[in-house]
Amino acid sequence: MRLALNVANAAQLRAALKRFRSNIVIYYWKIAADNLIVVNDGRRRLSYASGTSVVVRPSPGKAANAASQKAAKEENMIVLKWISIALLALIGLGAAAFAWLIATRPDLSEFENYYARPAQSAVTVRFFGTSSMLFSDGETNIMIDGWFTRPSTLAMAFGKVDPDIAAIESGLARLGNSSVAALIPGHSHLDHAMDVAEVAKRTGAMLIGSQSTANIGRGGGLPEQQIKIVEDGETLRFGDFAVTMIENRHFVFPNDAFKEADPFIREPLTPPVPAYAYREGKTYSILIEHPGGSALVHASAGFKEDALRDVDVDVVYLGVGFLASQTAEYQEAYWGEVPTATRAEGVYVIHWDSFSQPIADIGDRPAAPNRLWNDLFGMRAGASVDYALNKAKASGIDAALLPMWEAVDAFTVAAPPREAAQ
Ligand SMILES: [Zn+2]
Repeated sequence: MRLALNVANAAQLRAALKRFRSNIVIYYWKIAADNLIVVNDGRRRLSYASGTSVVVRPSPGKAANAASQKAAKEENMIVLKWISIALLALIGLGAAAFAWLIATRPDLSEFENYYARPAQSAVTVRFFGTSSMLFSDGETNIMIDGWFTRPSTLAMAFGKVDPDIAAIESGLARLGNSSVAALIPGHSHLDHAMDVAEVAKRTGAMLIGSQSTANIGRGGGLPEQQIKIVEDGETLRFGDFAVTMIENRHFVFPNDAFKEADPFIREPLTPPVPAYAYREGKTYSILIEHPGGSALVHASAGFKEDALRDVDVDVVYLGVGFLASQTAEYQEAYWGEVPTATRAEGVYVIHWDSFSQPIADIGDRPAAPNRLWNDLFGMRAGASVDYALNKAKASGIDAALLPMWEAVDAFTVAAPPREAAQ
């Protein structure tokens, strides 16, 4: 075999051999003489005379091959060692960054002046994070979501989650261990509905919601007579409260990674299960009417056009989590379809706070989401709350944040004095 090559040095040889990569594997090469280059590809010995032609000769034998392969192996080991060191360093940096993201949270103390003041009226609401709340007129209690378990970010991302009985029982004790007439999750995602079976069992509440919500109750061992699947627009009465479930739309994530292929929980769901097993089900705006006033709990920052056209309320409990990650057009449409459409006189801003901070560790203010949720996953609590407060001000209506556990007016937003606000 003769190959016409014109090579004078190693660099030229490499370039020339590139043309034959498909059938020549180079294990070693050297310049054997001033004008002769020898290449051994493991099977054959190739000699290249500079400036002339190339002659392919039989291999010089096993010994030479073994020596060249050993040299190549040693070279590979050195390369592998450096790749390993670089990879370990990257993993270490990644772990440190992840730890920092889940251990730190933005400072939201700028909103301190916006928290609602203690209740003045007969119908109260006690907020206990995200969109979990207890409405009460002193006779009848209605609970929204009832979520006390806050799984760690790691468990939510990679593991399985399970209702935290200790957190549920101490949370219910903090709310006075009162009996609850109805337990109503806004939809069936974990942060609204994962505790419903345990909470309903302990409070005697009727669990209200979609087929998916019912399946969380069933999987958790809640008897069928304590589960009520509702129709769109259906009104249920509990004492002086009338509750109407209006089907609406969940927040639309700009990033499709959060999209569920099947949004329904089709079988009884028995924990522990992965966090994503708590699928959306149907999403509701919950209209709560009472002789003392009216409210709409709209926990997820999504909307269906005109869904709330015929609804008129005193106060909207407006979910804003992730809202700042959406477009300005989306935000404006959301405001138009919820507080504006319902002619609300006040807005309580909800569902902007942490999913993972253990509830026992949270003080009298909701916990800010950690940086993983806030910055990386796009909750953007500060910017989302800011949007709602500014928009309320521009619309001439009151807005406030809800303190943890404390009873505040359910149907009027006890907005802090304007001069105290920034
Ligand atoms: Zn959700």
